[in-house]
Amino acid sequence: MTARAMTCREVIDLLTDYVEDVLPAQERRRVEAHLATCDGCTTYLEQVRETIRLTGMLTEEQIPDEEKQRLLAAFRDWTRSGNSGG
Ligand SMILES: [Zn+2]
Repeated sequence: MTARAMTCREVIDLLTDYVEDVLPAQERRRVEAHLATCDGCTTYLEQVRETIRLTGMLTEEQIPDEEKQRLLAAFRDWTRSGNSGG
């Protein structure tokens, strides 16, 4: 069985579990492998962590699907625009 690369959507779905450290080791490694190559999800991870710092906790309901879609759209832009200044 070969491990399939995770998509941004899958990673985002798992990020709350990831930061709460409740993911199985296998899933955790897959998330980390994706984060190592994806600036978009790394940024999102930082936002999730910031939210947890502010609220002290995080539930799935605190990240509405609408927000996920917005971020996924942003990832597309990153991919398309490439590096043009910072
Ligand atoms: Zn990603």
